[in-house]
Amino acid sequence: MTRARWTSGEASDRDEFNLTRVFFFAALHLGVLAVFWQTNWMAIGMAVMLHVICGGLGVCVGYHRLLTHRSFKCPKIVEYAFALAGSLSMQGGALEWVALHRKHHQHSDKDGDPHNAAEGFWWSHMLWVLHTPTNENWRAILGSILLAVGLYFLGGWPFVVWGVCVRLVATYHITWFVNSASHMWGYKNFESDDLATNCWWVALLSYGEGWHNNHHAFPTSARHGMKPWEIDFSYYFIRAMKTVGLAWDLYVPSPEKMKEKLAQKADLIAGRFSETAGKFSETAEELKEKFSETADELAEKLSPPTAEEPA
Ligand SMILES: [Zn+2]
Ligand SMILES: [Zn+2]
Repeated sequence: MTRARWTSGEASDRDEFNLTRVFFFAALHLGVLAVFWQTNWMAIGMAVMLHVICGGLGVCVGYHRLLTHRSFKCPKIVEYAFALAGSLSMQGGALEWVALHRKHHQHSDKDGDPHNAAEGFWWSHMLWVLHTPTNENWRAILGSILLAVGLYFLGGWPFVVWGVCVRLVATYHITWFVNSASHMWGYKNFESDDLATNCWWVALLSYGEGWHNNHHAFPTSARHGMKPWEIDFSYYFIRAMKTVGLAWDLYVPSPEKMKEKLAQKADLIAGRFSETAGKFSETAEELKEKFSETADELAEKLSPPTAEEPA
């Protein structure tokens, strides 16, 4: 099956179970266990740095905010650098990632959404990846193999274990948490017809991507953290790029647009209240009727029999 399925609007096909990916993810998770005998501070530092570059800049800023949603513009060479960094997170090539994610926004939490959160935590977290009928991106795979070899020559097995296994497993689960936890737990600033939420701990781990209700409300916004406490490292980085002239045309919704969305939420809440109030008054009417019927019946039963007419 090719990627065409995901661009044709069809729902996912559960028969497309990809066993190779099961082995790949299992091996990667098992590789993490090697930290018990392959660890040093340099290796940990290398993993953090690669996580920031390939996950934070590559996936969050590059694949997501720049290539999928075009929330800002930058020189082509910078765009390629982001795409290269993103491909080293082994989440597929940029084109495929963008197509899948656009599908997610188009059908959020409904049929046709690759990681429909309405189907439960595990499906939206990682099971969908094992069933996604996409092509493997050999250039991205080759890039990661070269990176692993380079890491081995730089710092031996600790660098490979931390820079590849630990870093990739962390990046995968953090990305997947955006699709699972940030469609389940947290709060909503804006009303939406999907399950997306603002989940603070996902936002902290994912460089701001966990402010997901904000993101679904304004998908093309470069800024996902809308309130002062909603820390958004990806946006801070884009702002820094703008300051040095490497980014321009940043789209951020105006306060008026946000107020409009908030007013929609207020309307919806008011609507729900009046609906509930309507239901209460209907029930009260029904109860009143039933009471008066029962009272009539009782009065009939309790009233003394009328004296018989003497013959
Ligand atoms: Zn989402
Ligand atoms: Zn998005």
